[in-house]
Amino acid sequence: MARYTGAVCKLCRREGEKLFLKGERCNGAKCSFEKKRYAPGEHGQGYRRRPSNYGIQLREKQKIKRIYGVLEKQFRRYFKKSDAEKGVTGTNLMKHLESRLDNVIYRLGFASSRNMARQLLRHRHFTVNDVIVDIPSYEVKPNDTITVREKSKKLTFIHEAMKKIKGDHDLPWLILDKAKMQGVFIQVPERDQMEVDVNEQLVVELYSK
Ligand code: SF4
Repeated sequence: MARYTGAVCKLCRREGEKLFLKGERCNGAKCSFEKKRYAPGEHGQGYRRRPSNYGIQLREKQKIKRIYGVLEKQFRRYFKKSDAEKGVTGTNLMKHLESRLDNVIYRLGFASSRNMARQLLRHRHFTVNDVIVDIPSYEVKPNDTITVREKSKKLTFIHEAMKKIKGDHDLPWLILDKAKMQGVFIQVPERDQMEVDVNEQLVVELYSK
């Protein structure tokens, strides 16, 4: 299971915006992007040319990959699959990314970032429909039930993350039962229900060249 193991804050600095990859730290004064709002590396603060169309498309693709923690090969596979399906390719792509189990766990509030969700998943802290699943890319289907395993219900990481859930969970495509530490994926979200500020059309343009 290949994954990015470098410094994640550099990814935000490279993209020139906060990608919220580190959970609670992202909202505090320790956020690296707040301290260094320039690209990492020797020439990070140097003169920058206006990016070409290709450059803009490439950066948007990198940004989406980094937000969802997906590497190039897997991202290409998502794109190929989305392109072969009915409907708008970019929206299909986003639907696949939002249906990943690590994303759903993050969206339900069991983890404060997708990175943390991936880590918890690999340590087998969740079940889907009562079966242990430890694959972050597992694609959740409508009406699947995601539950924190009985032995994991005392985990501080999960409790700390859940403290941040304000009132009732407000995503229309997920139902959360806080007491049971259980969530139901009601439906694949529509594009306007995904709270992510990206332009996936730029990825479609990039891959269509
Ligand atoms: Fe990005 Fe979070 Fe690191 Fe800030 S703390 S640079 S938002 S990953």
